[in-house]
Amino acid sequence: MALSRRGFLAATGFVAAGTALSGGAVPAFALAPMAGAPIPGAIRRKVGSVEVTALLDGYIDMPPDFLVGADGATVAALASAAHQSPGPRRTPVNAYLVNLGDRLVLVDAGTSTSMGPTLGQLPAALAAAGVGPAQVDTVLITHMHPDHIAGALTPTGQALFPNAELVVTEADYVFWHDDSVMNQAPSEFRSFFLGARNAAAAYAGRLRRIAGEGQAVGSIRSVPLPGHTPGHAGFVVESGGEALLIWADTVHLATYQFARPDWSMSFDVDPQQAAQTRRRIFDRAAADRVMVAGMHMPFPGFGHVVREGSEYRFVPAEWPYAL
Ligand SMILES: [Zn+2]
Repeated sequence: MALSRRGFLAATGFVAAGTALSGGAVPAFALAPMAGAPIPGAIRRKVGSVEVTALLDGYIDMPPDFLVGADGATVAALASAAHQSPGPRRTPVNAYLVNLGDRLVLVDAGTSTSMGPTLGQLPAALAAAGVGPAQVDTVLITHMHPDHIAGALTPTGQALFPNAELVVTEADYVFWHDDSVMNQAPSEFRSFFLGARNAAAAYAGRLRRIAGEGQAVGSIRSVPLPGHTPGHAGFVVESGGEALLIWADTVHLATYQFARPDWSMSFDVDPQQAAQTRRRIFDRAAADRVMVAGMHMPFPGFGHVVREGSEYRFVPAEWPYAL
């Protein structure tokens, strides 16, 4: 005899459960409250024998009006092509933990409480990665903006990393400590200067300043990427024939800046230089086929750059299924 659909459901228990509900007897379902929050962001992959863990501090909603020289029609077209609205883009703040084997290096430190409640999750992400602040040996700072250095401090302004040296670039240190620059800057940027100074002061005695292209710590090399700030730098992790370029704030809005690399951000210290640097590093990453990661690239930010004529395209790396 052919089994009817109802007969099949009854035989497999689906109808029985419904009957029990309508018959008054309440089955004992497990209580599963909604979490209401994402799981802390931490994704680990390997570069040769080095482990690199992307850590998510949180997000900023960044309007496309921040793009210098952008026109509405192109913004709308690029947003549509990416299946996004042309309104503010939810832009992450990432940091990267690099385990060299003999040293734990954190590249950038997130925001702490300096930029509001959608951020400040780096300590939770670090804990999810199994690391406490006392284990970090070196904090490398790509540039001294608050979304990169403020997280080196606790909410009360103490050094969060009790055993770490803090490494900043000479050009950024000089720029953010220059009173004449601060006094000429728009008032809304004054907190950037004070924040940079507070972080440097909290690490007095274990602050190291680096300049140019060369060794930053262990096998990690620094690469000057000036424009966003004067001392804005990337860091190259190299091991076993593989490389990762952590390019800091080369890109703030991935939806737009790969197709239009000349569109800099209104808060770049030198937007024109930032655009030149962006094209140069896009070309180098594309030609060398090197993996990149960035502090405002869609989390976890790993991927490759492809050149297409005068434009570029980002190819996100797949989930690292194994290490
Ligand atoms: Zn930034």
